[in-house]
Amino acid sequence: MKKCLVSEKCGGCVYASLEYAKQLEEKEKRVKSLLSSICPVRPIVGADEPFYYRNKVHWAFGHMGTHLIAGRYAEGSHRIIENDECLLEDQECAKILSDIKNLAVKFKMQSYDERTKRGLLRRVLVRKGMATGEVMVVLVLASPVLPGKKGFIKAMLEKHPSIKTVLININTRTDSMILGDKTINEFGRGSIWDELLGVRFKISPESFYQINHDQTEKLYSLAIEAADLKKGEKVLDAYCGIGTIGLCAASSCPGIHLTGVELNRAAVADARENAKGNKMEKARFLVADATRYMVESATKKESYDVVFLDPPRSGTTPEFIRACEQLAPKRIVYVSCDPTTLARDLKEFKKRGYLPQYAIPVDMFPFTEHVECVALLQRMSNTRKATITLDVEMEDYHRIKNRTEVTADATE
Ligand code: SAH
Repeated sequence: MKKCLVSEKCGGCVYASLEYAKQLEEKEKRVKSLLSSICPVRPIVGADEPFYYRNKVHWAFGHMGTHLIAGRYAEGSHRIIENDECLLEDQECAKILSDIKNLAVKFKMQSYDERTKRGLLRRVLVRKGMATGEVMVVLVLASPVLPGKKGFIKAMLEKHPSIKTVLININTRTDSMILGDKTINEFGRGSIWDELLGVRFKISPESFYQINHDQTEKLYSLAIEAADLKKGEKVLDAYCGIGTIGLCAASSCPGIHLTGVELNRAAVADARENAKGNKMEKARFLVADATRYMVESATKKESYDVVFLDPPRSGTTPEFIRACEQLAPKRIVYVSCDPTTLARDLKEFKKRGYLPQYAIPVDMFPFTEHVECVALLQRMSNTRKATITLDVEMEDYHRIKNRTEVTADATE
């Protein structure tokens, strides 16, 4: 197996020394331990190529004495680990970053010092459309003036013609956010394109976009298959980002009526363009908090046949789930990046009349401990719902009772 030379110093890969097949076993075991009391867990879907999958790579810039250094931060710290051969990062992205570092030395660029708050170059972010080969470079600076900017960008473009756009982001923040609020487009159109399941997507510097292209196609295919869409159905894509799940679903079943809801304004703007670019003008995308949108839709007595939801790690809210009960979609497809919050939410869905049918773990992030899941929930009939609700409530009752008894024992 390929070995990372800095895995101990870096700490980013929990499974750095574990064979890939074993990693999959571990992840499947973890998902089963959390979910198998709720629904059947199908075998994990592993990656054909577990290395070099990250299509988004960012390096921090700093200095060691008078030398400019660049690399990843060690896990949980701001210590820069220099290493051109990360086993997760796309190799072209890493090469571009390494060349940018050499150019920065040549152009005598000052790196930013987090302690003194002086200097200029903080980070460089590189994103790549794996299907199109288009690359975006974002230079993150502490102030807008980059001496020698034209020559620097020209040299970058000459070395790497795959760079289709270069942006400067001004970040004066003191937290660990990579990007600041202001982004200036210096070359190209300010975004790149990629393709998932034959649908083209515009990616801006700030928008969320899945980092493992090939596994994302598998994840979305499983979600779309679970949704079993039919022409004419009303479909909601909640937490839709740039519209990827919904638009891939609409491409697989062109007759659906798609609504996407997302909090990030820039992502929604991209989603709308993506709908147009793929000639899916009927799809609509709204900027809103997903829970608020659901609650309002339920109040207005709107209806959906199918709901996809793909929330952040914290999962969704009890209010979202209660609103689902009122909106009464027939099927709900939950795409989750944290099986712990998925387990919590599936139990809540079960109380609200949705029976989890199965969950499938998908390994989107080999070598790390993260694991994604797709779960299908089906609406129950009212009688079935009454029995199940009672069962779940009794389970909760016994669990709380046991916990209280154990705590009482411990304090005795
Ligand atoms: N489905 C998309 C995005 C998933 S990531 C994809 O596969 O690419 C989760 C998304 O939820 C992010 O785009 C984030 O901006 C969005 N988000 C976070 N909190 C939200 C909220 N309360 N309401 C709506 N969207 C939210």
